[in-house]
Amino acid sequence: MVENGADIVIVGAGIVGLAHAWIAAKAGRSVIVFERRAAAMGASIANFGLLWPIGQPAGRMFSLAMKSRDLWLELLVAAKIPCRATGSLHVACRDDEAQVAQEFASLGPGFGYRCSWLDRTQALARSQALNPQSLLGALWSETEIMIDPRGTLHRIPEFLNQRHGVQFRWSCPVLEIAYPKVRTTRGTFLGERVLVCPGADLETPYPDFAQESGITLCKLQMLRTPPQPAAWDLGPALAGGLTFRFYPSFAICPSLPALRDRIARETPEYDRFGIHTMVSQAPSGELTLGDSHEYGAQASPFNCEEIDSLILRHLRGYIRVPDLSIAQRWHGVYAKHPREPYLRSQPEAGVEVIAALGGAGMTLSFGVADETFNGKSTGAAAHES
Ligand SMILES: Cc1cc2nc3c(=O)[nH]c(=O)nc-3n(C[C@H](O)[C@H](O)[C@H](O)COP(=O)(O)OP(=O)(O)OC[C@H]3O[C@@H](n4cnc5c(N)ncnc54)[C@H](O)[C@@H]3O)c2cc1C
Repeated sequence: MVENGADIVIVGAGIVGLAHAWIAAKAGRSVIVFERRAAAMGASIANFGLLWPIGQPAGRMFSLAMKSRDLWLELLVAAKIPCRATGSLHVACRDDEAQVAQEFASLGPGFGYRCSWLDRTQALARSQALNPQSLLGALWSETEIMIDPRGTLHRIPEFLNQRHGVQFRWSCPVLEIAYPKVRTTRGTFLGERVLVCPGADLETPYPDFAQESGITLCKLQMLRTPPQPAAWDLGPALAGGLTFRFYPSFAICPSLPALRDRIARETPEYDRFGIHTMVSQAPSGELTLGDSHEYGAQASPFNCEEIDSLILRHLRGYIRVPDLSIAQRWHGVYAKHPREPYLRSQPEAGVEVIAALGGAGMTLSFGVADETFNGKSTGAAAHES
Protein backbone atom coordinates (compact mmCIF):
# COMPACT_ATOMS: atom_id res chain seq x y z
CA MET A 1 0.00 0.00 0.00
CA VAL A 2 1.43 3.44 -0.87
CA GLU A 3 0.35 6.18 1.54
CA ASN A 4 0.56 9.90 0.93
CA GLY A 5 3.98 11.39 0.53
CA ALA A 6 5.63 14.79 0.57
CA ASP A 7 8.04 16.92 -1.42
CA ILE A 8 10.70 16.17 1.16
CA VAL A 9 10.80 12.95 3.17
CA ILE A 10 13.25 12.96 6.09
CA VAL A 11 14.48 9.96 8.03
CA GLY A 12 15.46 10.87 11.61
CA ALA A 13 14.25 13.62 13.97
CA GLY A 14 17.67 14.43 15.44
CA ILE A 15 18.99 17.95 14.95
CA VAL A 16 20.18 17.22 11.40
CA GLY A 17 16.76 15.96 10.31
CA LEU A 18 14.98 18.85 12.05
CA ALA A 19 17.28 21.45 10.52
CA HIS A 20 16.51 20.08 7.06
CA ALA A 21 12.78 19.97 7.84
CA TRP A 22 12.80 23.62 8.86
CA ILE A 23 14.78 24.94 5.87
CA ALA A 24 12.55 22.97 3.45
CA ALA A 25 9.29 23.95 5.15
CA LYS A 26 10.31 27.61 5.28
CA ALA A 27 10.76 27.48 1.52
CA GLY A 28 7.19 26.21 1.11
CA ARG A 29 7.94 22.52 0.55
CA SER A 30 5.73 19.85 2.12
CA VAL A 31 7.74 17.78 4.62
CA ILE A 32 7.25 14.52 6.48
CA VAL A 33 9.72 13.28 9.11
CA PHE A 34 9.98 9.63 10.19
CA GLU A 35 11.53 8.90 13.57
CA ARG A 36 12.02 5.37 14.82
CA ARG A 37 11.67 6.36 18.48
CA ALA A 38 8.75 8.01 20.28
CA ALA A 39 10.95 11.14 20.47
CA ALA A 40 14.51 12.04 19.50
CA MET A 41 16.77 9.93 21.75
CA GLY A 42 20.11 10.11 19.96
CA ALA A 43 23.18 12.32 20.22
CA SER A 44 21.04 15.42 19.74
CA ILE A 45 19.64 15.19 23.27
CA ALA A 46 22.77 13.74 24.89
CA ASN A 47 25.10 16.66 24.23
CA PHE A 48 26.20 19.89 25.93
CA GLY A 49 23.94 22.06 23.79
CA LEU A 50 26.93 24.12 22.74
CA LEU A 51 26.93 25.92 19.39
CA TRP A 52 30.69 26.22 19.11
CA PRO A 53 31.97 28.04 16.01
CA ILE A 54 35.38 28.63 17.63
CA GLY A 55 36.06 24.89 17.33
CA GLN A 56 35.73 24.87 13.56
CA PRO A 57 38.87 25.30 11.46
CA ALA A 58 39.37 28.60 9.67
CA GLY A 59 37.86 28.87 6.21
CA ARG A 60 34.89 26.97 4.90
CA MET A 61 33.99 25.12 8.13
CA PHE A 62 34.12 28.23 10.31
CA SER A 63 31.97 30.04 7.72
CA LEU A 64 29.54 27.13 7.73
CA ALA A 65 29.37 27.22 11.53
CA MET A 66 28.66 30.94 11.51
CA LYS A 67 25.95 30.52 8.86
CA SER A 68 24.49 27.74 11.01
CA ARG A 69 24.61 30.04 14.05
CA ASP A 70 22.60 32.71 12.21
CA LEU A 71 19.97 30.16 11.18
CA TRP A 72 19.82 28.72 14.70
CA LEU A 73 19.15 32.19 16.12
CA GLU A 74 16.42 32.78 13.53
CA LEU A 75 14.68 29.54 14.48
CA LEU A 76 15.13 30.00 18.23
CA VAL A 77 13.51 33.45 18.02
CA ALA A 78 10.68 32.25 15.75
CA ALA A 79 9.94 29.25 17.98
CA LYS A 80 10.46 31.20 21.23
CA ILE A 81 13.05 28.70 22.44
CA PRO A 82 15.44 30.06 25.10
CA CYS A 83 19.15 30.25 24.49
CA ARG A 84 22.16 31.88 26.13
CA ALA A 85 24.41 33.76 23.75
CA THR A 86 27.11 33.91 26.39
CA GLY A 87 30.25 33.34 24.37
CA SER A 88 32.95 31.06 25.71
CA LEU A 89 36.18 30.96 27.71
CA HIS A 90 39.03 28.53 27.11
CA VAL A 91 40.69 28.57 30.49
CA ALA A 92 44.49 28.51 30.83
CA CYS A 93 46.03 27.20 34.04
CA ARG A 94 49.47 26.29 32.71
CA ASP A 95 52.01 28.40 30.84
CA ASP A 96 51.74 26.29 27.68
CA GLU A 97 47.94 26.59 27.69
CA ALA A 98 48.24 30.36 28.07
CA GLN A 99 50.74 30.38 25.22
CA VAL A 100 48.34 28.58 22.85
CA ALA A 101 45.44 30.79 23.96
CA GLN A 102 47.46 33.95 23.33
CA GLU A 103 48.63 32.73 19.93
CA PHE A 104 45.04 32.02 18.93
CA ALA A 105 43.90 35.41 20.26
CA SER A 106 46.54 37.04 18.10
CA LEU A 107 46.09 34.95 14.91
CA GLY A 108 42.35 34.14 15.14
CA PRO A 109 40.84 37.55 14.34
CA GLY A 110 42.68 37.48 11.00
CA PHE A 111 40.65 34.38 10.15
CA GLY A 112 37.36 35.90 11.34
CA TYR A 113 37.26 34.52 14.91
CA ARG A 114 35.90 37.11 17.34
CA CYS A 115 38.24 36.43 20.21
CA SER A 116 40.80 37.98 22.53
CA TRP A 117 43.13 37.07 25.40
CA LEU A 118 41.94 37.95 28.91
CA ASP A 119 44.44 38.19 31.73
CA ARG A 120 43.59 36.66 35.11
CA THR A 121 41.71 39.70 36.42
CA GLN A 122 39.74 40.18 33.20
CA ALA A 123 38.82 36.47 33.07
CA LEU A 124 37.61 36.51 36.68
CA ALA A 125 35.46 39.52 35.84
CA ARG A 126 33.78 37.49 33.06
CA SER A 127 33.12 34.33 35.06
CA GLN A 128 32.51 33.60 38.71
CA ALA A 129 33.01 29.90 37.93
CA LEU A 130 36.79 30.13 37.52
CA ASN A 131 39.16 28.96 40.23
CA PRO A 132 41.35 32.02 40.99
CA GLN A 133 44.09 29.85 42.51
CA SER A 134 45.00 28.07 39.28
CA LEU A 135 43.93 30.67 36.71
CA LEU A 136 46.48 32.36 34.43
CA GLY A 137 44.00 33.83 31.95
CA ALA A 138 41.56 32.75 29.26
CA LEU A 139 40.76 32.93 25.57
CA TRP A 140 37.47 34.83 25.26
CA SER A 141 35.27 34.25 22.22
CA GLU A 142 31.92 35.96 21.72
CA THR A 143 30.30 33.58 19.22
CA GLU A 144 29.35 30.53 21.31
CA ILE A 145 25.74 29.87 22.32
CA MET A 146 24.19 27.48 24.85
CA ILE A 147 20.85 25.82 24.22
CA ASP A 148 19.10 23.14 26.26
CA PRO A 149 19.26 20.14 23.92
CA ARG A 150 16.55 18.17 25.71
CA GLY A 151 13.92 20.92 25.67
CA THR A 152 14.94 22.24 22.26
CA LEU A 153 14.69 18.88 20.50
CA HIS A 154 11.21 18.52 21.95
CA ARG A 155 10.06 22.04 21.07
CA ILE A 156 11.34 22.27 17.45
CA PRO A 157 9.01 19.50 16.13
CA GLU A 158 6.01 21.16 17.82
CA PHE A 159 6.93 24.47 16.20
CA LEU A 160 7.53 22.91 12.77
CA ASN A 161 4.17 21.19 12.90
CA GLN A 162 2.21 24.19 14.18
CA ARG A 163 3.87 26.91 12.08
CA HIS A 164 4.81 25.05 8.92
CA GLY A 165 2.57 21.96 8.84
CA VAL A 166 5.54 19.55 8.95
CA GLN A 167 4.20 16.06 9.62
CA PHE A 168 5.96 13.81 12.11
CA ARG A 169 5.56 10.05 12.28
CA TRP A 170 6.98 9.01 15.66
CA SER A 171 7.81 5.40 16.54
CA CYS A 172 7.95 4.75 12.83
CA PRO A 173 11.24 3.25 11.60
CA VAL A 174 12.07 3.49 7.92
CA LEU A 175 12.89 -0.05 6.83
CA GLU A 176 13.74 0.33 3.18
CA ILE A 177 14.10 2.99 0.50
CA ALA A 178 13.65 2.33 -3.19
CA TYR A 179 13.30 5.83 -4.56
CA PRO A 180 10.70 7.34 -4.64
CA LYS A 181 9.23 4.80 -2.22
CA VAL A 182 10.00 4.88 1.48
CA ARG A 183 8.82 1.77 3.29
CA THR A 184 8.09 2.13 7.00
CA THR A 185 6.48 -0.02 9.66
CA ARG A 186 3.32 1.95 9.00
CA GLY A 187 3.08 1.82 5.23
CA THR A 188 4.96 3.03 2.20
CA PHE A 189 5.27 6.74 1.40
CA LEU A 190 6.47 8.68 -1.64
CA GLY A 191 9.08 11.43 -1.55
CA GLU A 192 10.17 13.74 -4.33
CA ARG A 193 13.46 14.04 -2.43
CA VAL A 194 14.48 11.72 0.40
CA LEU A 195 16.99 12.85 3.04
CA VAL A 196 18.37 10.23 5.40
CA CYS A 197 19.68 11.80 8.64
CA PRO A 198 20.13 8.69 10.82
CA GLY A 199 22.80 9.84 13.28
CA ALA A 200 24.85 6.92 14.49
CA ASP A 201 22.41 4.31 13.15
CA LEU A 202 23.73 3.75 9.65
CA GLU A 203 22.49 0.16 9.31
CA THR A 204 18.92 0.80 8.20
CA PRO A 205 17.81 1.54 5.56
CA TYR A 206 21.25 1.01 4.01
CA PRO A 207 22.98 -2.03 5.56
CA ASP A 208 26.75 -2.14 4.98
CA PHE A 209 26.76 1.63 4.56
CA ALA A 210 28.83 2.36 7.66
CA GLN A 211 31.50 -0.13 6.70
CA GLU A 212 31.71 1.11 3.11
CA SER A 213 31.95 4.75 4.14
CA GLY A 214 34.62 4.07 6.79
CA ILE A 215 32.58 5.80 9.48
CA THR A 216 33.35 4.92 13.09
CA LEU A 217 31.32 5.47 16.24
CA CYS A 218 32.44 7.57 19.17
CA LYS A 219 31.15 7.09 22.72
CA LEU A 220 31.24 10.08 25.07
CA GLN A 221 30.64 10.01 28.86
CA MET A 222 28.80 12.95 30.37
CA LEU A 223 27.72 14.15 33.81
CA ARG A 224 25.27 16.66 35.19
CA THR A 225 25.10 18.45 38.55
CA PRO A 226 21.87 19.31 40.36
CA PRO A 227 20.58 22.86 39.71
CA GLN A 228 22.97 25.48 41.04
CA PRO A 229 21.50 28.12 43.39
CA ALA A 230 19.07 30.39 41.55
CA ALA A 231 21.22 33.51 41.77
CA TRP A 232 24.34 31.75 40.46
CA ASP A 233 25.04 31.93 36.74
CA LEU A 234 27.80 30.15 34.85
CA GLY A 235 28.27 33.04 32.43
CA PRO A 236 30.27 32.00 29.34
CA ALA A 237 30.50 28.32 28.46
CA LEU A 238 33.83 26.93 29.68
CA ALA A 239 36.49 24.72 28.16
CA GLY A 240 39.72 23.68 29.86
CA GLY A 241 43.27 23.59 28.54
CA LEU A 242 42.88 20.00 27.27
CA THR A 243 40.39 21.31 24.72
CA PHE A 244 43.07 23.08 22.67
CA ARG A 245 44.22 19.67 21.42
CA PHE A 246 40.68 18.61 20.57
CA TYR A 247 39.31 21.17 18.08
CA PRO A 248 41.04 21.55 14.71
CA SER A 249 40.75 25.36 14.82
CA PHE A 250 43.72 25.50 17.21
CA ALA A 251 46.04 23.87 14.69
CA ILE A 252 47.01 27.41 13.61
CA CYS A 253 48.85 27.87 16.94
CA PRO A 254 52.60 27.18 16.61
CA SER A 255 52.95 25.97 20.21
CA LEU A 256 50.08 23.45 20.10
CA PRO A 257 52.43 20.46 19.47
CA ALA A 258 54.39 21.29 22.64
CA LEU A 259 51.16 21.43 24.65
CA ARG A 260 50.07 18.09 23.21
CA ASP A 261 53.45 16.55 24.09
CA ARG A 262 53.32 17.79 27.67
CA ILE A 263 49.80 16.41 28.20
CA ALA A 264 50.78 13.05 26.66
CA ARG A 265 53.86 12.86 28.87
CA GLU A 266 52.37 14.04 32.16
CA THR A 267 48.83 12.72 31.97
CA PRO A 268 48.58 9.94 29.37
CA GLU A 269 45.28 8.88 30.96
CA TYR A 270 43.60 11.90 29.34
CA ASP A 271 44.82 10.80 25.92
CA ARG A 272 43.89 7.16 26.57
CA PHE A 273 40.23 8.08 27.00
CA GLY A 274 40.21 11.13 24.71
CA ILE A 275 39.28 13.39 27.62
CA HIS A 276 38.87 17.13 27.49
CA THR A 277 36.51 19.15 29.65
CA MET A 278 33.71 21.59 28.97
CA VAL A 279 30.89 23.08 31.03
CA SER A 280 27.49 24.38 29.94
CA GLN A 281 24.44 25.35 31.98
CA ALA A 282 20.83 24.30 31.41
CA PRO A 283 18.04 26.89 31.83
CA SER A 284 17.00 25.13 35.05
CA GLY A 285 20.50 25.68 36.49
CA GLU A 286 22.17 22.28 36.14
CA LEU A 287 25.75 22.20 34.84
CA THR A 288 26.47 19.73 32.07
CA LEU A 289 30.02 18.37 32.28
CA GLY A 290 32.11 16.17 30.03
CA ASP A 291 33.56 14.43 28.16
CA SER A 292 35.57 11.49 26.82
CA HIS A 293 36.00 10.00 23.33
CA GLU A 294 36.23 6.24 22.75
CA TYR A 295 36.20 5.17 19.10
CA GLY A 296 35.18 1.86 17.56
CA ALA A 297 32.72 0.00 15.37
CA GLN A 298 30.43 -0.49 18.39
CA ALA A 299 29.87 1.57 21.54
CA SER A 300 29.94 -0.41 24.78
CA PRO A 301 26.75 0.01 26.85
CA PHE A 302 28.88 0.13 30.02
CA ASN A 303 30.28 3.36 31.43
CA CYS A 304 33.75 3.49 32.95
CA GLU A 305 33.96 5.08 36.41
CA GLU A 306 37.63 5.98 35.94
CA ILE A 307 36.63 8.23 33.02
CA ASP A 308 34.08 10.14 35.11
CA SER A 309 36.68 10.55 37.89
CA LEU A 310 39.26 11.91 35.44
CA ILE A 311 36.75 14.37 33.97
CA LEU A 312 35.90 15.62 37.46
CA ARG A 313 39.57 15.77 38.48
CA HIS A 314 40.38 17.99 35.54
CA LEU A 315 37.34 20.21 36.08
CA ARG A 316 38.16 20.69 39.77
CA GLY A 317 41.49 22.13 38.66
CA TYR A 318 39.91 25.18 37.03
CA ILE A 319 36.30 25.65 38.13
CA ARG A 320 34.79 26.63 41.44
CA VAL A 321 31.03 26.21 41.50
CA PRO A 322 28.53 26.00 44.39
CA ASP A 323 27.55 22.36 43.84
CA LEU A 324 29.76 19.93 41.95
CA SER A 325 27.90 16.82 43.12
CA ILE A 326 26.65 14.58 40.32
CA ALA A 327 22.94 14.08 39.72
CA GLN A 328 23.06 12.32 36.34
CA ARG A 329 25.52 10.27 34.31
CA TRP A 330 25.04 9.07 30.75
CA HIS A 331 26.85 8.50 27.53
CA GLY A 332 26.06 9.55 24.00
CA VAL A 333 27.25 8.15 20.69
CA TYR A 334 27.92 9.92 17.44
CA ALA A 335 29.20 8.83 14.05
CA LYS A 336 32.43 10.27 12.67
CA HIS A 337 33.87 10.22 9.19
CA PRO A 338 37.57 9.27 9.08
CA ARG A 339 38.59 12.16 6.84
CA GLU A 340 35.77 14.63 6.24
CA PRO A 341 33.88 16.95 8.61
CA TYR A 342 30.70 15.11 7.68
CA LEU A 343 29.24 12.73 5.12
CA ARG A 344 27.01 13.73 2.26
CA SER A 345 26.36 10.74 0.06
CA GLN A 346 23.91 9.76 -2.68
CA PRO A 347 23.22 6.02 -2.41
CA GLU A 348 20.65 6.26 -5.22
CA ALA A 349 19.15 9.05 -7.36
CA GLY A 350 16.74 11.19 -5.32
CA VAL A 351 18.17 10.08 -1.98
CA GLU A 352 20.90 11.70 0.10
CA VAL A 353 22.45 10.48 3.35
CA ILE A 354 23.66 13.33 5.57
CA ALA A 355 25.42 12.00 8.63
CA ALA A 356 28.55 11.75 10.74
CA LEU A 357 28.80 15.38 11.82
CA GLY A 358 30.92 14.08 14.69
CA GLY A 359 31.24 16.32 17.73
CA ALA A 360 29.97 19.38 15.89
CA GLY A 361 26.47 18.35 14.80
CA MET A 362 24.70 20.92 16.94
CA THR A 363 27.04 23.62 15.68
CA LEU A 364 26.88 22.74 11.98
CA SER A 365 23.45 21.20 11.37
CA PHE A 366 21.63 24.29 10.12
CA GLY A 367 24.51 25.33 7.87
CA VAL A 368 24.64 21.83 6.40
CA ALA A 369 20.86 21.87 5.84
CA ASP A 370 21.09 25.25 4.14
CA GLU A 371 23.72 23.84 1.84
CA THR A 372 21.52 20.85 1.01
CA PHE A 373 18.74 23.05 -0.33
CA ASN A 374 20.49 26.21 -1.40
CA GLY A 375 23.73 24.75 -2.66
CA LYS A 376 25.91 27.34 -0.98
CA SER A 377 28.91 25.18 -0.96
CA THR A 378 30.81 26.78 1.89
CA GLY A 379 31.06 23.44 3.67
CA ALA A 380 32.15 20.89 1.11
CA ALA A 381 31.76 17.34 2.23
CA ALA A 382 32.57 13.80 1.33
CA HIS A 383 30.94 12.68 -1.89
CA GLU A 384 30.86 8.95 -1.76
CA SER A 385 28.34 6.44 -2.81
C1 LIG B 1 27.91 13.52 24.54
C2 LIG B 1 27.90 14.38 23.30
C3 LIG B 1 28.21 15.73 23.40
C4 LIG B 1 28.17 16.51 22.25
N1 LIG B 1 28.31 17.87 22.38
C5 LIG B 1 28.11 18.65 21.29
C6 LIG B 1 28.10 20.07 21.41
O1 LIG B 1 28.14 20.62 22.51
N2 LIG B 1 28.04 20.82 20.27
C7 LIG B 1 27.93 20.25 19.05
O2 LIG B 1 27.92 20.97 18.07
N3 LIG B 1 27.83 18.91 18.90
C8 LIG B 1 27.91 18.10 19.99
N4 LIG B 1 27.82 16.76 19.87
C9 LIG B 1 27.56 16.18 18.54
C10 LIG B 1 26.09 16.27 18.18
O3 LIG B 1 25.28 15.97 19.30
C11 LIG B 1 25.78 15.32 17.03
O4 LIG B 1 26.68 15.54 15.96
C12 LIG B 1 24.37 15.54 16.50
O5 LIG B 1 23.44 15.54 17.55
C13 LIG B 1 24.02 14.47 15.48
O6 LIG B 1 22.70 14.73 15.08
P1 LIG B 1 21.95 13.71 14.12
O7 LIG B 1 20.63 14.27 13.82
O8 LIG B 1 22.87 13.36 12.99
O9 LIG B 1 21.87 12.36 14.98
P2 LIG B 1 20.87 11.90 16.13
O10 LIG B 1 20.64 12.95 17.14
O11 LIG B 1 21.39 10.59 16.61
O12 LIG B 1 19.49 11.68 15.39
C14 LIG B 1 19.29 10.67 14.42
C15 LIG B 1 17.87 10.19 14.55
O13 LIG B 1 17.55 9.33 13.46
C16 LIG B 1 16.71 8.30 13.95
N5 LIG B 1 16.79 7.17 13.01
C17 LIG B 1 17.90 6.46 12.66
N6 LIG B 1 17.59 5.51 11.77
C18 LIG B 1 16.26 5.61 11.54
C19 LIG B 1 15.34 4.88 10.70
N7 LIG B 1 15.75 3.88 9.94
N8 LIG B 1 14.04 5.26 10.72
C20 LIG B 1 13.61 6.29 11.49
N9 LIG B 1 14.44 6.99 12.32
C21 LIG B 1 15.74 6.67 12.32
C22 LIG B 1 17.29 7.98 15.31
O14 LIG B 1 16.34 7.33 16.14
C23 LIG B 1 17.65 9.37 15.82
O15 LIG B 1 16.62 9.97 16.58
C24 LIG B 1 27.87 15.94 20.99
C25 LIG B 1 27.58 14.59 20.91
C26 LIG B 1 27.57 13.80 22.04
C27 LIG B 1 27.21 12.35 21.94
